[in-house]
Amino acid sequence: RVQKSKLPTYSGLERYHILEKMGEGAFSNVYKAIDTVTQEKVAIKVVRKNELNHLQEMHLHYDMKKEPRAIERSNVLKEVQIMRQLKHPSIVSLLGFSESPDYYFLVLELMEGGELFHQIVKLTYFSEQLSRHVIVQVAQGIRYLHEEKGVVHRDIKPENLLFQPIPIFPSKEPRPPPGPNSEPKEDEGQFIPEVGGGGIGKIKIADFGLSKIVWDQQTRTPCGTLGYTAPEIIKDERYSKSVDLWALGCVLYTCLCGFPPFYDESIQDLSEKVSKGQYTFLSPWWDDISSSAKDLIKHLLIVDPDKRYTIQQFFEHPWVKDESFQTTVNK
Ligand code: ADP
Ligand code: MG
Repeated sequence: RVQKSKLPTYSGLERYHILEKMGEGAFSNVYKAIDTVTQEKVAIKVVRKNELNHLQEMHLHYDMKKEPRAIERSNVLKEVQIMRQLKHPSIVSLLGFSESPDYYFLVLELMEGGELFHQIVKLTYFSEQLSRHVIVQVAQGIRYLHEEKGVVHRDIKPENLLFQPIPIFPSKEPRPPPGPNSEPKEDEGQFIPEVGGGGIGKIKIADFGLSKIVWDQQTRTPCGTLGYTAPEIIKDERYSKSVDLWALGCVLYTCLCGFPPFYDESIQDLSEKVSKGQYTFLSPWWDDISSSAKDLIKHLLIVDPDKRYTIQQFFEHPWVKDESFQTTVNK
């Protein structure tokens, strides 16, 4: 466990003052902090270095064969190396990096709205407009990763999609006095989720702990000189990318109805359902959802990665292009 008071003493982190804990993952704790030089708030992801010891501890409690992700988790330096190359409105930016003998510290752009996961829980489910607003931003991030950076995220899920809230009133301006025409604004300064209520916050992709580069950055070809690349490697690249599209389909499904497409108490039954692509548009939850939205999901949740939509096909789908769904993204 990291002592909060110890954090600022590490090299490069003196300027940050830890405010509170914001979240945690399997190997990390994330804190809200303030940069005392610029007065800007940031998030600091603290990752234990000695995962090996940690994994040995975990080994006592878990069957490692059932936790394959835990082993893959170890490469924080790769996460940092990938994040350093990324700059996009739908990607959480890495502002700094530091380490101590026991921990890595990733200074990140703060996403005060928290996880998409919590917003779905809070609202039960999203309207089609709100879902589209969210999913298009995520997809723009994926398109940037896949097409411009050759990066596959591999862990797209509601816990790794974070919001930036938009206050109704800018925080520095005082609230206007109540008058006969003023509407009650209960959620002042809070994230306002409903579309039409002044626009909703930006959403960004976080957690590059499992991500991977599939394109050679120098030659801008998949894994080396294209002319000499074996077909299975080119195929492999396409397969890698298609995992993010499957995940995008799962997130879209979850936004629209409030529960995931694949669920089972038993891990065995769940993995069977996933491998076969067994999901349904359960009544009554899906009754009022447009057939266009369902059609898009059907093209994302295809077991055969060759047949699954690519990110380009996603953007060509009528549900995504439909201008009548257009909602405001406040810049
Ligand atoms: P892990 O790799 O351990 O899953 P994440 O990078 O996903 O770590 O961070 C864990 C959690 O911390 C996230 O699910 C989220 O709740 C919170 N978090 C991470 N990054 C930020 C951020 N930049 N701003 C706000 N909260 C964050
Ligand atoms: Mg995570």
